[in-house]
Amino acid sequence: MKEEAPPLIVGAGPVGLGAALYLAQAKIETRVIEVAEKPVQESRALAVNPRTLEILESNGITEKMLELGLPIRGVRFSQRGHKPREILFEGNVHHKYPFILGLSQATTERLLAKALEEAGGKIERGVELIGCRNEAGTVWLN
Ligand SMILES: Cc1cc2nc3c(=O)[nH]c(=O)nc-3n(C[C@H](O)[C@H](O)[C@H](O)COP(=O)(O)OP(=O)(O)OC[C@H]3O[C@@H](n4cnc5c(N)ncnc54)[C@H](O)[C@@H]3O)c2cc1C
Repeated sequence: MKEEAPPLIVGAGPVGLGAALYLAQAKIETRVIEVAEKPVQESRALAVNPRTLEILESNGITEKMLELGLPIRGVRFSQRGHKPREILFEGNVHHKYPFILGLSQATTERLLAKALEEAGGKIERGVELIGCRNEAGTVWLN
């Protein structure tokens, strides 16, 4: 009889953590591996889109993000010799969250990882998927 392994999530970035969190909250166990030994500290994404805020509402992450982040309600462009131009999101972005939320990806990942742990999941750090091969009904991992 074949051994059934839990779903494998490769990478503890926002997408992997978000998927693992949804599954953990639905009582579906996963295995999350992450090649990096430590969470990232450097700046990557610095703003969260309205749709992401909507998606993460149901697992309680959005509320925490809103507490920590800074709503960016518009953008101003300026070029020497020209009048500055502004785009305001409010009134133009027809959404429950008519702004983008200034919040570093490192903070988003920290919130998701904490919620995942609270839901019973864990991240195996320092573990890399080197290769995988599909066969009928089976995936072989290295
Ligand atoms: C400079 C910069 C600025 C950005 N700004 C924004 C922004 O303001 N707003 C926005 O929405 N998006 C922004 N982005 C995009 C955003 O960072 C990505 O969309 C987001 O990181 C994608 O998340 P992810 O989980 O798919 O991948 P990643 O964040 O790349 O995470 C993948 C994870 O998988 C791990 N991994 C990879 N291969 C393996 C393996 N074989 N085995 C084990 N682990 C593995 C990696 O170490 C990594 O931790 C920006 C990106 C950059 C580079």
